[in-house]
Amino acid sequence: MTVAAILSGKGRDVAIVSVETSIEEAVQILAERRIGALVVADSARQILGIVSERDIVRALARSGAGGLEGTVATIMTSKVVTCSEIDTINHVMERMTEGRFRHLPVVEDGRLAGIISIGDVVKARIQQVEREADEMRAYIAMA
Ligand code: AMP
Repeated sequence: MTVAAILSGKGRDVAIVSVETSIEEAVQILAERRIGALVVADSARQILGIVSERDIVRALARSGAGGLEGTVATIMTSKVVTCSEIDTINHVMERMTEGRFRHLPVVEDGRLAGIISIGDVVKARIQQVEREADEMRAYIAMA
Protein backbone atom coordinates (compact mmCIF):
# COMPACT_ATOMS: atom_id res chain seq x y z
CA MET A 1 0.00 0.00 0.00
CA THR A 2 1.24 3.49 -0.83
CA VAL A 3 0.95 6.93 0.72
CA ALA A 4 -1.39 7.85 -2.18
CA ALA A 5 -3.78 5.04 -1.13
CA ILE A 6 -3.82 6.27 2.49
CA LEU A 7 -4.47 9.85 1.35
CA SER A 8 -7.32 8.77 -0.92
CA GLY A 9 -9.03 7.33 2.16
CA LYS A 10 -8.35 10.09 4.69
CA GLY A 11 -8.16 13.15 2.44
CA ARG A 12 -5.47 15.73 1.86
CA ASP A 13 -6.41 18.28 4.46
CA VAL A 14 -3.42 19.50 6.47
CA ALA A 15 -3.60 21.77 9.51
CA ILE A 16 -1.22 24.58 8.60
CA VAL A 17 -0.03 27.55 10.64
CA SER A 18 2.33 30.40 9.82
CA VAL A 19 5.60 31.19 11.58
CA GLU A 20 3.82 34.08 13.32
CA THR A 21 1.17 31.85 14.92
CA SER A 22 1.41 32.01 18.70
CA ILE A 23 2.09 28.82 20.65
CA GLU A 24 -1.12 29.46 22.59
CA GLU A 25 -3.11 29.51 19.35
CA ALA A 26 -1.33 26.33 18.18
CA VAL A 27 -2.43 24.61 21.41
CA GLN A 28 -6.05 25.63 20.71
CA ILE A 29 -5.89 24.29 17.13
CA LEU A 30 -4.34 20.98 18.24
CA ALA A 31 -7.04 20.53 20.89
CA GLU A 32 -9.96 21.57 18.66
CA ARG A 33 -8.88 19.40 15.73
CA ARG A 34 -7.78 16.52 17.97
CA ILE A 35 -4.45 16.22 16.22
CA GLY A 36 -0.84 16.01 17.36
CA ALA A 37 1.08 18.26 14.98
CA LEU A 38 0.80 21.33 12.79
CA VAL A 39 2.80 22.01 9.65
CA VAL A 40 4.33 25.48 9.57
CA ALA A 41 4.18 26.70 5.98
CA ASP A 42 4.21 29.89 3.91
CA SER A 43 1.39 31.12 1.68
CA ALA A 44 2.69 28.97 -1.20
CA ARG A 45 2.38 25.85 1.02
CA GLN A 46 6.15 25.51 1.18
CA ILE A 47 7.09 23.77 4.42
CA LEU A 48 9.07 25.84 6.93
CA GLY A 49 8.78 23.55 9.92
CA ILE A 50 6.61 21.24 12.01
CA VAL A 51 5.39 21.78 15.55
CA SER A 52 4.03 18.86 17.57
CA GLU A 53 2.58 18.46 21.04
CA ARG A 54 6.03 17.17 22.08
CA ASP A 55 7.60 20.55 21.23
CA ILE A 56 4.97 22.27 23.37
CA VAL A 57 5.54 19.88 26.29
CA ARG A 58 9.30 20.57 26.06
CA ALA A 59 8.67 24.34 26.06
CA LEU A 60 6.44 23.97 29.14
CA ALA A 61 9.08 21.83 30.90
CA ARG A 62 11.71 24.47 30.12
CA SER A 63 9.78 27.62 30.98
CA GLY A 64 6.60 26.66 32.82
CA ALA A 65 3.43 28.48 31.69
CA GLY A 66 5.72 31.11 30.11
CA GLY A 67 6.58 28.42 27.56
CA LEU A 68 3.30 29.21 25.83
CA GLU A 69 4.44 32.75 25.07
CA GLY A 70 6.05 33.43 21.73
CA THR A 71 5.47 32.04 18.27
CA VAL A 72 5.62 28.51 16.90
CA ALA A 73 8.78 29.53 15.03
CA THR A 74 10.66 29.46 18.35
CA ILE A 75 9.83 25.82 19.11
CA MET A 76 9.24 24.16 15.71
CA THR A 77 11.54 21.62 14.08
CA SER A 78 12.90 23.31 10.93
CA LYS A 79 14.48 20.31 9.27
CA VAL A 80 11.36 18.42 8.27
CA VAL A 81 11.51 14.89 6.91
CA THR A 82 8.84 14.33 4.25
CA CYS A 83 7.59 11.57 1.98
CA SER A 84 5.97 11.40 -1.44
CA GLU A 85 2.76 9.76 -2.65
CA ILE A 86 4.56 6.83 -4.24
CA ASP A 87 6.28 5.82 -1.00
CA THR A 88 5.08 2.58 0.62
CA ILE A 89 3.73 2.15 4.16
CA ASN A 90 6.88 0.22 5.04
CA HIS A 91 9.03 3.13 3.92
CA VAL A 92 6.93 5.57 5.99
CA MET A 93 7.16 3.28 9.05
CA GLU A 94 10.94 3.10 8.67
CA ARG A 95 11.24 6.90 8.44
CA MET A 96 9.08 7.42 11.53
CA THR A 97 10.99 4.79 13.51
CA GLU A 98 14.41 6.12 12.50
CA GLY A 99 13.45 9.77 13.14
CA ARG A 100 11.41 9.01 16.30
CA PHE A 101 8.48 11.11 15.16
CA ARG A 102 4.86 10.32 14.36
CA HIS A 103 4.07 12.69 11.50
CA LEU A 104 5.25 12.77 7.92
CA PRO A 105 4.12 15.56 5.58
CA VAL A 106 3.59 14.47 1.97
CA VAL A 107 5.26 16.66 -0.63
CA GLU A 108 4.58 16.69 -4.38
CA ASP A 109 6.38 19.12 -6.70
CA GLY A 110 7.81 20.95 -3.71
CA ARG A 111 4.33 21.62 -2.26
CA LEU A 112 2.54 20.18 0.73
CA ALA A 113 0.06 17.54 -0.51
CA GLY A 114 -1.10 15.83 2.70
CA ILE A 115 0.15 14.41 5.98
CA ILE A 116 0.48 10.87 7.31
CA SER A 117 0.36 10.20 11.04
CA ILE A 118 1.39 7.06 12.90
CA GLY A 119 -2.35 6.45 13.46
CA ASP A 120 -2.96 6.43 9.69
CA VAL A 121 -0.08 3.98 9.23
CA VAL A 122 -1.36 1.61 11.92
CA LYS A 123 -4.90 1.75 10.47
CA ALA A 124 -3.65 1.03 6.94
CA ARG A 125 -1.44 -1.81 8.18
CA ILE A 126 -4.34 -3.44 10.06
CA GLN A 127 -6.53 -3.21 6.92
CA GLN A 128 -3.73 -4.76 4.87
CA VAL A 129 -3.30 -7.68 7.31
CA GLU A 130 -7.08 -8.26 7.46
CA ARG A 131 -7.33 -8.26 3.66
CA GLU A 132 -4.48 -10.76 3.38
CA ALA A 133 -6.17 -13.01 5.98
CA ASP A 134 -9.50 -12.83 4.05
CA GLU A 135 -7.71 -13.75 0.82
CA MET A 136 -5.96 -16.66 2.53
CA ARG A 137 -9.28 -17.90 3.99
CA ALA A 138 -10.96 -17.65 0.55
CA TYR A 139 -8.06 -19.52 -1.04
CA ILE A 140 -8.21 -22.32 1.57
CA ALA A 141 -12.00 -22.60 1.20
CA MET A 142 -11.60 -23.06 -2.56
CA ALA A 143 -9.04 -25.86 -2.21
P1 AMP B 1 5.87 13.75 16.99
O1 AMP B 1 6.28 12.36 17.39
O2 AMP B 1 5.42 13.79 15.56
O3 AMP B 1 4.92 14.36 17.95
O4 AMP B 1 7.19 14.67 17.01
C1 AMP B 1 8.30 14.46 17.85
C2 AMP B 1 9.37 15.50 17.51
O5 AMP B 1 9.79 15.34 16.15
C3 AMP B 1 8.94 16.96 17.62
O6 AMP B 1 10.07 17.73 18.04
C4 AMP B 1 8.55 17.35 16.20
O7 AMP B 1 8.75 18.73 15.92
C5 AMP B 1 9.50 16.49 15.38
N1 AMP B 1 8.92 16.02 14.12
C6 AMP B 1 7.67 15.55 13.91
N2 AMP B 1 7.51 15.18 12.65
C7 AMP B 1 8.67 15.42 12.02
C8 AMP B 1 9.13 15.26 10.67
N3 AMP B 1 8.36 14.75 9.72
N4 AMP B 1 10.41 15.65 10.38
C9 AMP B 1 11.22 16.14 11.35
N5 AMP B 1 10.84 16.32 12.62
C10 AMP B 1 9.59 15.96 12.96
